[in-house]
Amino acid sequence: MPSPFDNILPRYDAVVIGAGLGGMTAANNLAKFGRKVLLLEHHYQLGGLATYFKRVGGHVFDISLHGFPHGMIKSTRRYWTKEISDRIHQLKDVRFINPDFDVRTTFDRADFTRILIEQFKLSAETVEAFFAHLREMNYYDNDARTTRQLFEQFFPGRPDVQRLLLEPIAYANGSTLDDPAITFGIVFSNFMSKGVFIFQGGTDTMINLMTAEMKANGVDIRRNVLVEKVLVEKDAAGRRRVVGVKLRGTRMGEEVEVACATVVSNANIKDTVLKMGGEDAFEAPFLDEARKVRVNTSSCQVYMGVREGESIPHIGDLVFTSEAKSFSSHELIDFHTTSRTYSVYYPDTRPHTKTPRYAVVTSVNQQWEDWANLSAEDYAANKARVIEESFRGLEKFIPDIRSKVDHAEAATPRTVNRYVRHVGGTSFGTKFEGLKVSMALPEQVGGFYHAGSVGIIMSGWLGTINYGVIVSAKADAYLRDPAANPLGDAAASAGV
Ligand SMILES: Cc1cc2nc3c(=O)[nH]c(=O)nc-3n(C[C@H](O)[C@H](O)[C@H](O)COP(=O)(O)OP(=O)(O)OC[C@H]3O[C@@H](n4cnc5c(N)ncnc54)[C@H](O)[C@@H]3O)c2cc1C
Repeated sequence: MPSPFDNILPRYDAVVIGAGLGGMTAANNLAKFGRKVLLLEHHYQLGGLATYFKRVGGHVFDISLHGFPHGMIKSTRRYWTKEISDRIHQLKDVRFINPDFDVRTTFDRADFTRILIEQFKLSAETVEAFFAHLREMNYYDNDARTTRQLFEQFFPGRPDVQRLLLEPIAYANGSTLDDPAITFGIVFSNFMSKGVFIFQGGTDTMINLMTAEMKANGVDIRRNVLVEKVLVEKDAAGRRRVVGVKLRGTRMGEEVEVACATVVSNANIKDTVLKMGGEDAFEAPFLDEARKVRVNTSSCQVYMGVREGESIPHIGDLVFTSEAKSFSSHELIDFHTTSRTYSVYYPDTRPHTKTPRYAVVTSVNQQWEDWANLSAEDYAANKARVIEESFRGLEKFIPDIRSKVDHAEAATPRTVNRYVRHVGGTSFGTKFEGLKVSMALPEQVGGFYHAGSVGIIMSGWLGTINYGVIVSAKADAYLRDPAANPLGDAAASAGV
């Protein structure tokens, strides 16, 4: 078996830990800036959470291709390729079915304005004022208000409106009524700008195109390599700086050290600081802040593959369903939640496939604590339960779905933890405070950067790619002048 370290160089300008969207974007950008880049991924496949898997019967399942905002078109065109950007297309049929309402929408501002006025009987002034307010929201305002308070200001006594607004965003970033309003506001506004989009061709096609682009730009990509430690030393002036990484092959256990001037970690921020950096690399107050960062909730998904040759009717692209009488952030993440979203993949998701294929992926939001300590037997039983509940819910739309599906399996927070190593199996990074720790990393250790889902705003495909761009610009600025302000003005110069 070849070693993942064959022909590895002794030194790189930049080492990127993890090949999620944040890591790959940072690696690609740094290579385009002319840097020698090593991209390390502990899994055998690239993409992190933005990846796919195949199963017998010709099934290909996408893990996180449910929908992202229109901004992905610009970000991928600017920082990846036109070919990737041109494949992004809109999902036009988003449905909400729950005891409060039955809504079908293109999920953009014009259509939501119509629905809020016609179906929810709000005044045009209120709706306009709400959207205008969201447009003004800014991370740097440090506004302490919660989403609950924001909703009470604009839609007092209207839990149905609050449900319509927050439920889809809770699926997109795990945010709740009690999180800072900006965690709802920015993501909701991003979607409202033009609707919900996905990548046509499937995640497999996208990752292949990204891999080809990184290779063309000279990124040295190594899979099956776990980064165990980021090596930090003090320079003559007493300033801590990154000097290298300690690596282990995940298949044969071989150990290697590689020198580098900068590290961009795409791993979870808690792992990055507390395990890979470690106690000696940081000041005590910073370590305390990192320890206090709360990770976000996770997803539990059921993947259902429709047998080759079978078809299912069009029931919508994204179907948000719930049996909960009223919206509750707690019900949404309950172990026995009745709130689930169906993402339906019709043949036009992968138009290149010879025979038309259909798949349905069910998502529920879950908490790590409910799954982490189940015995093997209980774990299997609860996976079977969520599969059965998914089928039962889907039968309301497609009564003969069971006879058409020839593969069904469930992934849980434990699955996320196993494949991408996120603390708490989180699908949506950290709560708000994670962003501050992530951004402050290079102030602690020269050349040490983090790009990945943090603080909700930098979460999801779009946020993660944009964060990878910002951080790669900062790392490049450090490589040019290690004495410069570690935070610099690279975010502005990255144009994000
Ligand atoms: C079920 C689910 C559905 C989702 N749906 C959507 C959606 O529809 N739209 C959307 O925009 N977002 C969605 N998301 C969120 C989105 O997928 C993530 O926000 C985004 O992909 C995260 O990218 P990232 O680069 O931050 O991290 P990740 O994708 O987690 O990548 C981190 C990478 O680092 C690697 N790594 C970690 N530690 C090490 C180490 N020590 N050494 C080497 N490698 C390491 C991991 O293996 C992984 O490949 C979803 C997430 C989940 C789980």
